[in-house]
Amino acid sequence: MCTKWMDDPEIQRFREYLKIPSVHPDIDYDDCVAFLMKQALELDLPIAVYEVVPSKPVVVITWAGTEPNLPSILLNSHMDVVPIYEEHWTHPPFAATLTEDGFIFARGTQDMKGIGMMHLEAVRRLKSAAVRLKRTVHISFVPDEEIGGVVGMKSFTETEDFKSLNVGFCLDESMPCDDNAIYAFNGERTNREIKVTCRGTPMHGAELLPGTAGEKLHFIIDKFMKFREEERKKVAAGTPLGEVTTVNLTQVEGGVQINVIPENLSVSFDIRVAPERDHDEFEEMITRWCKEAGEGVTFEYFVKNPLVKSTRTDESVPFWAALKETVEHMGIELRCIICPGATDARYVRRRGIPAIGFSPISSTPMLLHAHDERIHVKVFKRGIDVMEKTVLAVANV
Ligand code: ZN
Repeated sequence: MCTKWMDDPEIQRFREYLKIPSVHPDIDYDDCVAFLMKQALELDLPIAVYEVVPSKPVVVITWAGTEPNLPSILLNSHMDVVPIYEEHWTHPPFAATLTEDGFIFARGTQDMKGIGMMHLEAVRRLKSAAVRLKRTVHISFVPDEEIGGVVGMKSFTETEDFKSLNVGFCLDESMPCDDNAIYAFNGERTNREIKVTCRGTPMHGAELLPGTAGEKLHFIIDKFMKFREEERKKVAAGTPLGEVTTVNLTQVEGGVQINVIPENLSVSFDIRVAPERDHDEFEEMITRWCKEAGEGVTFEYFVKNPLVKSTRTDESVPFWAALKETVEHMGIELRCIICPGATDARYVRRRGIPAIGFSPISSTPMLLHAHDERIHVKVFKRGIDVMEKTVLAVANV
């Protein structure tokens, strides 16, 4: 156990938050809410707890700006963390062990209690330095991001309470970077899950007639796989994953008996459509494939998320310029990419609000959802430095 950083109050508060096992499934958020209440009390800031869905609290701590009518800044993080396989951890995942060489081991250090604490600590530092910001800053802590955010951020963004926060710009999560850079996510791909059903005439397994469900299924899988291969080549040539459309075959169903040619067979695909691809055209292409495959081939959606426009990184979003300048001024590269996965930022963007995923964790291996998730004390402290300057800049735009 390391003693050097033990008395650092920023580290103490971080470790206290990490020790709350807000881990899926069936999370009890009471301890998180109590912890945040205590933080708000110490900061002398008002706190609101919204329960759009029972037992799924959304906590908002507010620091009013000198011009409170201006659109506000939202610093968003999620309180939940993904499950652990404790036997694979060097230190218990909810003990927040601080090692002699300065690492804090805990689930949530990177994803994303660490970022939530950077938001709070940045405001704490600014406030104790008697700084006043032009725009109001809201620090939100939401539930259930890791299981899709439907009962968390999605529901909250659909309320009048959210509207009344008058958000003009939002910072959410990105991911750690293993060199001296910070990842910024300005957009996400669109999740589409589809099932293609191929129907044909059932017949005896000894026949050799055309129009079987199997032939049609083969045609469909072939089309999807050829498309997949083209996208895979782009990734192999260096295109970031977030900028290509991924297609993965995840389920095959059908058949009754080995000597009976079945009436139907179906195949399901997990698809993530890149923001730059025309979503309507993509759907038309699948419709065309189904037609070409023969009679009785149809598809249905299990998930059909709407296209969400990426946040622009030009002069139309002055907050972006403020963020970029701040980070680069600190000698750190801001690397803007499309998020390969999904975050709560999409629900904010859906409301037409610019949102950037921003996790200031540099020179750190990516351990989101991994065993031995950890962060170095110096990286965390540096993250607060970056966040402090960032909040100062964007709230004064
Ligand atoms: Zn996360």
